[in-house]
Amino acid sequence: MADRALRGSGLGSRSFEDATGVEFAPRQEVAFDCPTGHHFTVMFSEEAELPLEWECTKCGKTAVRSDGSKPEEKDVKAPRTHYDMLRERRSIPELEELMAERLEILRKQD
Ligand SMILES: [Zn+2]
Repeated sequence: MADRALRGSGLGSRSFEDATGVEFAPRQEVAFDCPTGHHFTVMFSEEAELPLEWECTKCGKTAVRSDGSKPEEKDVKAPRTHYDMLRERRSIPELEELMAERLEILRKQD
């Protein structure tokens, strides 16, 4: 009888610990607004990298963060290519001229 009571209390305290663990697990709720006007929230664990966009749970459109966090502008974030740098220094007519010069040189080499 005493043994049974002890086991019972052991189980009880363990399940209490589990419940407490779930309750206090770090969570953060992120709110989103979709273009159609749906407002919804998604729960993330504290370690999760919070997305700036989320598929609307109601209509499937891309929703953005209600707190105003926006994805960085793509042209700021994207690394510049050699072509981008070239285009900053040279206009298209200039490049065409350079191309023509190079072709001229190549033809002479033949
Ligand atoms: Zn929606």
